[in-house]
This record gives sequence, structure tokens and C-alpha cells, in this order.
Amino acid sequence: MIGGKLFFTFAVILLFQYAACDHWSYPDRNSTNVSFPLWGGLCDVGNRQSPIDLSISGALKGNFPDIDYRNYDKPLTSPSLVNNGHTVKLTKFDVEMTMTGGPLNDKFIVEELHLHWWSEHTIDKIRYPMEAHIVHRNTRYSNISEAAAHKDGIAVVGVLFHASNQPNVGIGKIVENIEFINSADDIDKAVTIEQKLNLRELFPRLSGGYLSYPGSLTTPSCAESVTWLVLLDTFPVTLDQVNKFKGVETYGGKKLSDNYRDLQRKNNRPVLVVHQDSSSAPAPINMSAMSLFGSIVVIYISKFLQ
Ligand SMILES: [Zn+2]
Repeated sequence: MIGGKLFFTFAVILLFQYAACDHWSYPDRNSTNVSFPLWGGLCDVGNRQSPIDLSISGALKGNFPDIDYRNYDKPLTSPSLVNNGHTVKLTKFDVEMTMTGGPLNDKFIVEELHLHWWSEHTIDKIRYPMEAHIVHRNTRYSNISEAAAHKDGIAVVGVLFHASNQPNVGIGKIVENIEFINSADDIDKAVTIEQKLNLRELFPRLSGGYLSYPGSLTTPSCAESVTWLVLLDTFPVTLDQVNKFKGVETYGGKKLSDNYRDLQRKNNRPVLVVHQDSSSAPAPINMSAMSLFGSIVVIYISKFLQ
């Protein structure tokens, strides 16, 4: 009888956890002794999880045809902006933005763009103030859930932003609309961005090369279906712009002061560095120098971001 009761109790707890799985959260890094929460499933037991630290000097040189990005500079008419309790994302694009080439065997189409404040990937151990993820679905699969079930289903372009006095035009247009979605009462209620926006306003150059490795989604289900392409170029954002995102609320009205996942084990996965557009791409040594400079700036400014 006691066994039966125990089983019932466990079943109820499991059901509860399942029902509440959308309410996974990031740790409160302002508190002391907080460890990163277990998110369940592959997030805890997978072996090609993301994000990871990307070392430019430790990466293997990859030789691929240039990536062909189509329509990223076309103005989007009325894209949706949503606070889903974990990030701020742009969806409902009326322009078909696609990517082929590089290490990809198929054509990939943009599904959404969302932001992480403090970057998820670090480059040579440097964490940037913000990272955008442009999530693409392999057109071989009919929707993102089907794509997530295949190891070649998703490609995410990661774009890192460095702190600057120069505002980011694209992020500025998101910031102008953030007041309409930042309350916990607004979670999952989309608003339309009325200003003309194209993705290239967030990151003006896509051809400067990238780091690529096989990984996962960085949020539950942590599906191991992602080919990551993290751009070598970083783009400016002001701290004022980043701080606006820190006021976004998650469930229960708690501030989403940051939304990055801890670095995951690399497990001997190869990371490739691919230089494109060699006439204008920065040499790796320059990139490292720029990153080092960036790190000093980021460390200095991190005090003001808390
Ligand atoms: Zn992301």
C-alpha cells in the first residue's frame, strides 16, 4: 500500500514537472552559490550541447564554398515581437530569407531571430554583452519541430555584439517596442513592429567568416540538431540598449536580468574557422587582438550592467 502511495506521489510530481516544463528558468546569478538548474532530458545528458567556448587559434581551418545569404537586406513588413518569458524574439517574416553553402548540404530558411543578453558563446573565453540567434530550418523538413528531430535539421547563425558608443540601428528598433512586451502580463502576446526593419540593420556584414561546430538548441529541449555558424565579426550595441532588455520580465514578474546558458562540455567536437571574402576579412590575429581589447572593455563595463 505504501509503495502504491509512493508511486502515486511520484507520478503526480512527474506530471507536475511535465506540465510546468515551459516554466524552466535561468539561474539568478546575482545570488551567491546558485548552480545552473537541471532542465531535463538531453539538456542534462546530451553530448553535443551548446553553447561552448570557441577558440579561434584552436579551431581547424575549414574550406567551403561561400555562404549565400538571400534577402537578409530586404525590409520586413510588420514582423512580430514577442516576450516568451525566456527571450525577446522576432517572428512572422514576410520575406523568405535563405542560406545555402558553407558546411550546409541543404537550403535553410529563417524561422525567427531572438536575443541573449550576455552572449551564450564565448570567443577565446570572452563573453560579449549580447548575442543574436538567427534560427534557420532545413527546407527538407516541413516545420521546426520536425527539423529539431534530425541532426541536420537546424542551422543557427550566432552574432555577437560588442559594447560601443554607437547605437545598433536594428536593436534600436526592437528597443523602441520593448515597453509593449516587457511585462510578465505580456508574455506570449505579440506586437507588430511598425518601423521598417531588415536583419542587416542588426549586423551589417555577413561575409567576414565564421566558426562552425555541431551543437544543440541552448534552451529546452536542447535538441542536438544544430549546425552552429558564429560570425567572426562582432557588431556595436550600446549599454543603454542592452540594459533595456534587462527590464524584461519573466514568469511571476521576475526580471530576466540575463538569459544565457552555462558553457557546455566540448567533448572533442571539431570547431572549424572559415574565412570568407578574403579581400576584406580580418586576419585571425587581428580578431584576437580585437577580442582582447573587447574583453577589457567588457570587463570594465560589466560593473555597470548589473
Ligand atoms: Zn538562442
